[in-house]
Amino acid sequence: MEFESVIGLEVHAQLKTKSKIFCSCSTAFGDEPNVNTCPVCTGMPGVLPILNKKVVEFAIKMGLAVNCTINTYSIFARKNYFYPDLPKGYQISQYELPIAEHGYLVIQTNKGDKKIGITRIHMEEDAGKSIHSSSESFIDLNRTGVPLLEIVSEPDLRSPEEAVSYLKALRSILVYLDICDGNMEEGSFRCDANVSIRPKGENTFGIRTEIKNINSFRHVQKALEYEIERQIDLVLDGEEVVQETRLYDPQKNITKPMRSKEEAHDYRYFPDPDLVPLVLDENWINEIKKSLPELPESKFKRFKENYGLGQDEALTLTAEKDLADFFEKTVELGANPKKVSNWILSELLRVLHEHKLGLKESKFTPFQLYNLLELINKGLISGKIGKNIFEHLVLSGDDPEKYVKEKGLIQISDSSELEAIIEKILDNFPKEVERYKNGEKKLQGFFVGQVMKATKGKANPQLVNSILQKKLV
Ligand SMILES: [Zn+2]
Repeated sequence: MEFESVIGLEVHAQLKTKSKIFCSCSTAFGDEPNVNTCPVCTGMPGVLPILNKKVVEFAIKMGLAVNCTINTYSIFARKNYFYPDLPKGYQISQYELPIAEHGYLVIQTNKGDKKIGITRIHMEEDAGKSIHSSSESFIDLNRTGVPLLEIVSEPDLRSPEEAVSYLKALRSILVYLDICDGNMEEGSFRCDANVSIRPKGENTFGIRTEIKNINSFRHVQKALEYEIERQIDLVLDGEEVVQETRLYDPQKNITKPMRSKEEAHDYRYFPDPDLVPLVLDENWINEIKKSLPELPESKFKRFKENYGLGQDEALTLTAEKDLADFFEKTVELGANPKKVSNWILSELLRVLHEHKLGLKESKFTPFQLYNLLELINKGLISGKIGKNIFEHLVLSGDDPEKYVKEKGLIQISDSSELEAIIEKILDNFPKEVERYKNGEKKLQGFFVGQVMKATKGKANPQLVNSILQKKLV
C-alpha cells in the first residue's frame, strides 16, 4: 500500500517592533532577566492592555503579502491555560475573528509552482521563559507580551520538502517586509507541524499528531520524515495513530510524546473584555498596500526573465533581500548577470559562510565585484587570480585594481615578453619538445604549466597557448 503525508504548519513569527504588544516595555533580546517588564506584562491586578498600532500595521502587511482578506473588524480573545511563564493565566490572542484570512503563497516544487493555502493570520502575545537547573526553576518574563503573528497554513503540503520550501518562502516574505528578523536560533521564527498519513488516493484525513516548536529548516525536514515513517509503521502493524502533541529530539532524531493534544475547548476562549473590537479604516489598509516592497516571488520571476537565470540560481539570489539587491546593483553597474550570479553563488557565499559573516557585516560592495569582473574581462588578471584574491577583497573592502597593481598581479599580455620566456623554457626541455613533435600533443599542458610557474601564474593563458603552438610546429 502506498501512503501520502498531509502536513499543515503553524508558524510563530516575532515582530520587529521596539515595544511589546500591550505595554511600552522593550522587546530587546538577550537582556538581563526580568528587566523589560512592567505591571501590564507581569499580569498585575487592575492593569489594562493598550494595543500597539505598529503590531496591527505589521499584521496587515503580512496579510496583504500572502493574498489574505484583511478583516476590518477583528476580536482579541483570552486563551486560558496555566503555566508558570504565563503570569495572567491566559494569553491574549485572536480566535473567532482574526485580522487576516483566506490567503495563499506559491512555492517552487520539482513539478513547478504550487499554491499553499493560508487559513488565517492572527496577532498574539508571547509567553515568558522557564529556565530549569537541577535543583531550581527560574522565570524570565522579558519575552512576555512580545508581539507574535501566528500564521496557519491549510493542510496542503504533501512532503517534508514541500514543508521546508513553504517555511523558507514565508520567512523570506517576513524579512522582505522588514517586520521579523527571521532568526530561528533566537526563536523569532518557529514552527509547529501537524502531520497525518493516508493511503494514496484517499480524500479523508488520517489522525494527526502535532510536533511542537521546531526551530530550524533541517529539524523540520528530519522531524517530519521521522514522524511520517513512524505513523506508516503503526498503520502497517495494524495499530492506530494517537492524536497527541510530540516533541522532536534532534540528538536522537526521533519525536516523542509530550501530552495529549488540546482541543480548542480546553482553552475556554472568550473575547477579552479589556480590549474593544479592532476596527480598521480601509484607507489605512490601502496605504499599507501601496507601501509594500517587491516581494520574493515576483523578484524571482523577474530575475529569471530579465537576467536569464536558472530556477535554482534565481531562488537562492532572491531568498534574501540583501543578496538580491547586491546582485542587481552589480548588474546595474554594467556587469554580465550570469557571471555576477556565478561569483555570488559560488565564491561570495562560500567566503561569507567560512567567516560566519552576513553580507552586510562584510565590507564587500557591488562596485568591488563589478571592478573585479572588469579586470578579468579586460584580460588584466586571469579568472584564477581573481578567485585567489577574492577572499581578501571581501574581508578588506580593498579596491580590486589598486590591490592587484600593488601586489604585481597584473597579467602578462605582452607577446614579446612571453615569447622570450617561452623560448627559454623550450631550450630547457629539449626532450619534451622532441616528444611533442613526435605526436605527444598533451605535453602542451606541461609547457603551459612551466610558463605559469616562471611567471607566478601571471601569464595570459590564451596568449601562452597560441605562442606555444607557433613555436612547437
Ligand atoms: Zn510591560
